[in-house]
Amino acid sequence: MPAHTFDLAVVGGGIIGLAHALAAVRVGKRVAVIERDVRANGASIRNFGFITVTGQERGDSWRLARRTRDLWAEVAPKAGIAVAHRGLMLTARSPEAMAVIDAFLKTEMGEGCRLMTPDTFRKDAHGLGGSDLQGALFSPHELRVESRDAIPALAAWLKEARGVTFFTETVVFDAMPPRLHTSRGVIEAGAVVVCPGDDFVTLYPEHIAGYGLRKCRLSMLKLASPGFRLPSALMSDLSLTRYRGYAALPEARALEAKLRAEQPAHYDNGVHLIVVQGADDGLVVGDSHHYDHLPGPFAPAEAEHAILDEYARSLGRAAPPVLERWTGIYAVADDRTYLIDAPQENVRLVIVTSGTGASTGFGIAERVINDLFDLEGRVA
Ligand SMILES: Cc1cc2nc3c(=O)[nH]c(=O)nc-3n(C[C@H](O)[C@H](O)[C@H](O)COP(=O)(O)OP(=O)(O)OC[C@H]3O[C@@H](n4cnc5c(N)ncnc54)[C@H](O)[C@@H]3O)c2cc1C
Repeated sequence: MPAHTFDLAVVGGGIIGLAHALAAVRVGKRVAVIERDVRANGASIRNFGFITVTGQERGDSWRLARRTRDLWAEVAPKAGIAVAHRGLMLTARSPEAMAVIDAFLKTEMGEGCRLMTPDTFRKDAHGLGGSDLQGALFSPHELRVESRDAIPALAAWLKEARGVTFFTETVVFDAMPPRLHTSRGVIEAGAVVVCPGDDFVTLYPEHIAGYGLRKCRLSMLKLASPGFRLPSALMSDLSLTRYRGYAALPEARALEAKLRAEQPAHYDNGVHLIVVQGADDGLVVGDSHHYDHLPGPFAPAEAEHAILDEYARSLGRAAPPVLERWTGIYAVADDRTYLIDAPQENVRLVIVTSGTGASTGFGIAERVINDLFDLEGRVA
């Protein structure tokens, strides 16, 4: 048997590739991951590491997020990944925002969530909250990891504890089992999962083109420690019109009309607020959304100002100093949150198209691997 023969080759070492590697080793497959860079350097290490259940699109995405959250909870301690936050508090500044939260809590997605009064929010959150705070949604379902550390740690654990072979600084030029042609020679594998993130042109470009994907560039900030530990991740009113689990509720229409009128720069730059905290107490804060076929590297300063403005409005305090700035890019489709294509019998192409890969990737990968190896119903 050639040295490089695997049951499964995964192209892409981001979270979606690693999720497929994990799902395959859990059912006993010999797995290789092939990654262009020396380690993952794309969306997967640039995100908030916010494994979000509450707010995901109702139905499939919400269920995938619950499964993905459970798998993160299981794998993180084994891989030495610290869970920096649990839960979410989403503040509301207007009756319209409170109406969306009330409506959300009446759906099945509200299970386990509750309404916080301004006083309980302030008590739990070090007195944060502007003078116009009306209340907050609390969700216990979320986890938060520091992605820049968690993704390399997950890859190292898959390699050392689960026997996954990594080929890094290796580009796959074509992926047609039983052979993949790479910049370092041929790798043999019975099946392939291609997880290319926002690379739409190297592998199966004609299949990807059929989905009409675009790209989204996001601006992110790391802020200095605020001097205390946040009890959970924080979000605010704008998120109620962006996250599909809330935004699809009829009550979100009035809120969006109000916020668009009051905060046009935030909508022009696709800004909403997520605040999470790291082990060093620094805050990761974002984000903005600019859509294009080639978003380019030039992030408008207005987007950053809008993010910091929303921080001050919702938390009632000026933001701590900015320590780092970066951008990230992910794939976007107008009509789906992810795609699974089968360009050949033993090949799957998997792209998350809604900026939710850390939150849904493990669940999607389990589904793909079960289908690829015909394992429906088998529990690893
Ligand atoms: C700023 C930002 C914030 C976000 N926040 C969150 C969040 O908090 N929660 C959440 O759930 N989601 C979040 N997302 C979305 C999430 O990060 C993405 O959905 C997810 O990372 C996509 O993972 P991926 O593995 O598909 O892509 P990537 O991380 O881009 O990885 C793809 C990898 O494939 C490699 N590759 C591609 N083609 C080849 C080839 N031919 N040969 C070899 N290697 C190849 C690339 O080098 C790359 O490393 C955020 C995204 C961004 C940008």
